[in-house]
Formats: sequence, structure tokens, C-alpha cells
Amino acid sequence: MGSELSSFPVIAPGISDFRQAEASPEGDRRAEASEISLVPTHCCYCGVQCGMYLKVAGDGRVAGVEPRNHDINKGKLCPKGVTAYQQVNHPDRLLYPLVRDGRGGELRRATWDEALDRVASEILRIQTEHGRDAFGVYSGSSLVTETTYLMGKFARVGLKTKHIDYNGRLCMVSAAAANKKAFGIDRAANPWQDMLSTQVMLFAGANVAECFPVMSHYVWGARDRGAKLIVVDPRETPLARTADLHVPVRPGTDAAFFNGVLHVVAREGWIDDVFIAERTVGWEDVLAVARTYDPARAAEICGIDPDLIERTARMWGTAERAMAFHARGIEHQALGVENALTIINLVLATGQIGSEGKGYGTITGQGNGQGGREHGQKADQLPGARDIENAEHRRFISDFWGIEETELPHAGVSAVELVHLMETGEIRGFLALCNNPFVSMPNASRIQACYEQLEFHVQVDFFLSETAARADVVLPCGTWAEEGGTTTNAEGRVTLRHKAAEPLGEARPDWWIIGRIADRLGVGDKFSFGSVESIFEELRGASKGGLADYSGITYQRLEESGGLFWPVPREDHPGTPRLFEERFEFPDGRARFNAVEWHPPTEPVDAEYPVRLTTGRTVAHFLSGNQTRRIGTLVEQTPRPWVEVHPSLGFAPGDPVRVVSRRGEITLPALVTDTIREDTVFIPYHWAGATAANLMTVDALHPVSKIPEYKVCACRVERGTEITPSPPPPNPPGSPANEAAALATTDLRQPSAPQGRGTSET
Ligand code: SF4
Repeated sequence: MGSELSSFPVIAPGISDFRQAEASPEGDRRAEASEISLVPTHCCYCGVQCGMYLKVAGDGRVAGVEPRNHDINKGKLCPKGVTAYQQVNHPDRLLYPLVRDGRGGELRRATWDEALDRVASEILRIQTEHGRDAFGVYSGSSLVTETTYLMGKFARVGLKTKHIDYNGRLCMVSAAAANKKAFGIDRAANPWQDMLSTQVMLFAGANVAECFPVMSHYVWGARDRGAKLIVVDPRETPLARTADLHVPVRPGTDAAFFNGVLHVVAREGWIDDVFIAERTVGWEDVLAVARTYDPARAAEICGIDPDLIERTARMWGTAERAMAFHARGIEHQALGVENALTIINLVLATGQIGSEGKGYGTITGQGNGQGGREHGQKADQLPGARDIENAEHRRFISDFWGIEETELPHAGVSAVELVHLMETGEIRGFLALCNNPFVSMPNASRIQACYEQLEFHVQVDFFLSETAARADVVLPCGTWAEEGGTTTNAEGRVTLRHKAAEPLGEARPDWWIIGRIADRLGVGDKFSFGSVESIFEELRGASKGGLADYSGITYQRLEESGGLFWPVPREDHPGTPRLFEERFEFPDGRARFNAVEWHPPTEPVDAEYPVRLTTGRTVAHFLSGNQTRRIGTLVEQTPRPWVEVHPSLGFAPGDPVRVVSRRGEITLPALVTDTIREDTVFIPYHWAGATAANLMTVDALHPVSKIPEYKVCACRVERGTEITPSPPPPNPPGSPANEAAALATTDLRQPSAPQGRGTSET
């Protein structure tokens, strides 16, 4: 680390950035006296990937964070970003390997040799007794791209199993599938800078201010320049509160809404005939369907006033330049791909793509949601966004890896299906990295029962998640600050994270752990990487010629440029910030319209379960909460979950509300607010145990993307007796209790406005 860090200037924290901003805060003058290295990196959390400096003290400790005037975030960070550094030296860190002697035993400290020998011997035993595919791998999109490449290669070449998938399957795959169907490539069309040139912004199912907070500064920049804002969401989110038009559609009806908008756009002649004729295929079929969704019919399905459809169509249809974005709200549905396609149909019909201020994008949830789905850890994919069932793609990658094409496994199943295969014994052993399905997967009780069928389970993480706590072996890895590598943000921009410190205790980088397992399996020669950069150098070659071509990217270029938008097919190529200026990624260069019929959600409401339950995030926490439920200020800000209910349901603020679905129940304090629909309740999903929202969600999957339908299931709400306490996150045996996390059980404040929402005291 010493030599790596010595290449960064020892300067006063933040001075250079604040000088550029022509400010000299008192705090910085004080900091000028101290000697601290500032290591440039990016945040570990969401798909915005804000630039930041980690402050590293003379003894090598990561001691703080400073904003960085990076192109993406211009010196801004959100509450998660400014506290992310607190993970690094957190007392809950996993500092050494843990093993369990038999299912009934406790986890105990082990040496690396003992733990790794056990992992290798269990892999060999299970694969010998039950076949290669009996061992599955579950990876993550918070990992750097190098690790995601490594995991795909390790599964296919090291384990020779077809069963690998990743937790982006719970996140961005509906958008990915829609983009492939419509554009032939899966990447956001525009840099966010384009928002500053647009006239109308449409956000659907995207709680920007809480889930991707720093993206808001692009919205405000566009607003300052006169852009109008439309928000489509069942809840009046913080972004929706500021919109020119908020459309509170009923959960699970987005496709009907956008078909209705297209109906009006076509009726009024606001379509772009030239664009449709010259650059698209399939308009007539889409128009025929849209004609059946007149505003009255669409509004009836969506539970809204038809005028909202007319007004949306007018604002969008009459704009010279417009941009549409969506996120999990429309994607986390069994109709998620189709929902995204209806927005793309609107974009294509009005020619709003392919130039500055005209465009479309999905907002990735995880830090490397985009890069994590490009280089081979997805069940159906090989590096470079290649198709694992395409003969030419298979040949290229098997030649590149030096194996026979016949040895390369074919597609496996998706993440939730992979866990469900444990029920039948098809999956008997499982290796997982940095994910927490006990909290994050739908119908969580079933998920936990599936894991109980496993013969062997190894989990790699830096905190002991709820899922890791039941593993047979737990291997401690580094945090993002201790590993380094590249990520690709929601715009498609590849950026470089620098390693700021050595992994704490006996923790080791992901690539070291996988390499040492490979050694024990006798395939170490394929995984003899000495650094994360050496993996990137191999990845460049593996991606060459693919859709996601990174071959022209080097660490040095990322260092000098601050980031490059893929594809970058040569080292003298400048990158591709805006796609589709001249052609789409089909052989004829034209985009595809896709006709979509709306269908009701998998689980419609009925007399027994008359209310729609929808789930989502809150600003202080991230995904399954394994990182953020341990950070004091974040726990103080939002100690535990709540249920958001409309005043018409008759609860008083703070009342215990029992929410019951066909799969489970939960009793949470009421947040009574008129910013949610009367027929819908909302629960944030970051908490575990008896307060996990996913105890109630339905495990229906989209038939193609296999994304779970988190955003809508049927439930009933009734007055409960006692609010269910939220358990603190688990820790290794012998670790001190996490006092901050205990707030989740002892803080009796009622949920209120600081948790991100306006409240009604009625
Ligand atoms: Fe991190 Fe996202 Fe917040 Fe930026 S907006 S600081 S990337 S969590």
C-alpha cells in the first residue's frame, strides 16, 4: 500500500476543491495544518458513483471523507456517501475466517488454510457425488467489474458449473432486457449532462431524491434552465413534491398509463413521422395497441383522473427535447420489461433520442449495477455482454480462456430460481459474495427454508450479514476502500476506485480469495492474478469485439480522464458518451418498437387482501442494510422500518399496524400521510428478521428477465398490538454489541418527516 499511496499528494483535505469553488471554509484552514493523504475514489453505494476522496492518516487508517469535484457529482455527497468511510474500521468488521463444525455448531475462528481447505474439499465432494451443476455461485453488483469478471470465469472455468447468477437480477434486469429488445444494446443512451439541455424530464418509478440523491443536482440544473418535470409514482416522493405534474398511478399499472399517453400523442399528431420512418421498425403494431388505450380506459386501470394522461402527453409531445428515466418502481414487476418498453415506445414515437437533450435511461441501483451485468457473472452472459448461447460468442471466449468450447457450460437459472433449486436438491453447495438473500429476496421465509437444505454454504463478506451468519464457512474480504478497481455508473461511464488501505485484520481481497480456492481445485494457473489491475488487463481482451467493449480502456486513461463511457474499442478512442446518434445496435441500424398489452399484477387484490403493498428504499439505508444498519448516524436518522398509510385507512401516527399477506405478516408503526394512494401501503425493505418487508412479497418472476415482483402484492392492514422490534445485524462470536444498531429496537420515536416524507397528523 505504501508505494501506491505515495503517488497521491499529501495535501490539506478538500482545499483544491474548495479553491475551485472560490471558498475557503474555516474547517479547511484548520485542516491545512494536518498531513493527510487524499485518495481519489468513488462512493461504494448507488449507481451515481459520486467521486470522493478518502482521507488516509499517516498510520494508513482511513479516517474520513472529502467531497471531490468530479464530473459526476461536482463536490456533492449524500448522507450515505459522507459516512461510507465509517465501514472501513468499523468494530463489526469480519477480521478472520470463520468455520462451523457441523450444522448445530457455532461459527468459530479458523486459519485461512483451514477455511480454504474446507471450501475446496466440499466443492470437490459435492461435485463428485452430484455433478458439476450441484454447486452454485451467487455474486453481486456492488463488486468492482474485475471481481464480477473473475466470478464468471471462476464458475465456468474453475467449477465448470452452469449455475452462476448475481444480485443485479433483483435490480436492473428488466431494463436490461427492454434495452436489448428495443435498441440491441443494454446501456443508458445519454450522459446525464444532457439533462441540462432538455425541456421536459419524465421520471417513472424513480425515487431519485432518496435512492440516487446526487442525481438530483442534474434535475435542479435542468429546472434552473426552465425544464418541466413529470413524475409517475404511486407515492408523492420528495422529487414528485417538486414536479410540475405528479401522476400517482396504482402500483402495477404503468404499461396501461404509458399506452394511454402514446394514444394521446398519436391522436394529437405529436409523433415524429420522419424519425419513425427512417430509424425504427414496428410502429404500426404499437400504434394499433395504443389506439385501444384511450385515456378513459387507461385512467380506469391506473386509478387516476384521465386528465393526467392528457397533460402528460401534451407536456411530452409538444417538447422539442425530452428525456425519460425509470428505475425499480416500474421494473420490479412481473411486467417490468414491458413497462420499460412502453416508455421506450413513447421515446421512439416522438423521436426523443440520439442527440443532446433527447434521451432515455434507467437508473441503476447498485454502485456497479451496469458493469456488474456486462462481463459474465449473469446466468446467460459471457464477458463483453456476449450471449452464452451464441456459438460465435462461445468460441471467442473459450479460445480466450484456453478451454474447449464443449467445456464451457451453457446458461444456468436466475438468482431466485437458483435458491429455489436448493429445495429439490439440485443445488447442494453454494458460494456467495457480498449479498444477503435472507433480507433481499422475495418471500423470505421460503428463501431461508431453501438454505436449510444446503449441504455446504460459504459466504464472502466484510460484515456478517443475516445470510452469512448461517453459512458453514465465512471468508472475510476487504471493503471497497481496501480493494480498488473499476465500476460503471448508471450513465455507462467507467470510473476507477483507488485502493486506500490494506484490508483490515486478516481480511483479503476478493481476487486473492478466489485465486486461493482455485489453487486448491487444481486450476490456479487460470487465476494467478497478482492485482486487481491485472484482472482488468485480461478483461479488456475478453471484452474486445463485444457490445460492452472495454478493450481501449486502461487504468491510466481512467486516471487522466476521470472516466470513459463504453464502448471504447481502441486506446485512441475517446469513448461513447451518447449512444444512437446515427444507428441502433441491430444489423439494419433501426430501433425496434414493441407492442405491449397491460396485464394485472400476479396477485390481484380481493376481499381478503384488499390493499396493494409496495416496497422500496429510504435515503439513510442501502439495499439489505448490511452496511448501513451499522453506521451510527444513519441508524439515528432512520432506526427502523415503518408502514406508510393514507389517513383514510383510519390509523393515528405511530399506531401499530399489522400488515398481512398470503406469505407473512409484520407489525410496524404507522406513518400516516396523504402522499400515498388510499389503496396502497408502503414499507421500506432494509431491515431483517421479523421486520423484513420481503416476508410478505410475492416470489412471482418476470418470464424473461426473472426480476421479482417486489413492487406489488395483495395485503390487508389492521390494528396490531405490539410493534415488531427490528433485530440488530449479526456479529462474529465474541464481538462487542453494536450500540448504534441497538437503536432499531430501543428508539421509540414515531416515524416522521426526517425519514424523507411529509406527514399528515390527521
Ligand atoms: Fe454515494 Fe449514491 Fe449518495 Fe452519491 S448519491 S454519495 S454514489 S449513495
